[in-house]
Amino acid sequence: MKIRAVGTSGGKTIRNLLTTFVVDRVLALDCGSVCTGLGLSEQLEIKDIFISHVHMDHIGELPLLVDNKALYGKSVTVYATETTICHLRNHVFNGIIWPDFEGIPSVDNPALVYREIDYYQEIKVGEYRLTPLPVNHIDGSAGCYIQKGDIGFAYTSDTGETDEVWDWLSRQSALKALVTECSFPASMENLAVISHHLSGSMLEGELKKLGSGADIFIYHLKPQFSDQIREEIKGLDVHVLADGEEIVL
Ligand SMILES: [Zn+2]
Ligand SMILES: [Zn+2]
Repeated sequence: MKIRAVGTSGGKTIRNLLTTFVVDRVLALDCGSVCTGLGLSEQLEIKDIFISHVHMDHIGELPLLVDNKALYGKSVTVYATETTICHLRNHVFNGIIWPDFEGIPSVDNPALVYREIDYYQEIKVGEYRLTPLPVNHIDGSAGCYIQKGDIGFAYTSDTGETDEVWDWLSRQSALKALVTECSFPASMENLAVISHHLSGSMLEGELKKLGSGADIFIYHLKPQFSDQIREEIKGLDVHVLADGEEIVL
């Protein structure tokens, strides 16, 4: 499995791309920069998309990707919780903010297909087994565990402190790598708590709960505080992802 960290930042600047990961070129995890970070031919290869939650930095370029693919007669399937799909239908693909691609070019042959997912219920997505996992962020948020053969990869997406996801992942012997977040420096821990994100010291506590030998990759640093956060977590056995970096498992 190769996971390309197309966009890894918790904020947008000219040098920072928002959350998007692509597994083996065909399965996208969130779409914050799926068009900015990928060429058109790479966009066309994406067949399935896991959307963790509806914050703008995770869905911002999903409408643009669907449009790009529709012009070539290609569809995408979006896997998300019931709440997330409801928000995408009502607030994004609602015929006002963006066209309703469930009916384009036709209801029988739509460019956008939704598949509802439930926590802990494994589904088959292409060649992968995907298990949605509950995390502590906004209503309807999910992380996911993806397994192909005996290789497992997990993506918590945005999350504050939690137990469920770590408890479940700690029992996955195939888990080889994990992407999780660290958004704020210690001085802003109050904001981390109320916005359901992690600071460096909170991250350290969360990783103790996992207690796994998996490689840990960090994303979602706020670019304004990136140097400070890196300094604060340099003692942890983690790797902070850069935009465009690839995780090979
Ligand atoms: Zn979020
Ligand atoms: Zn985010």
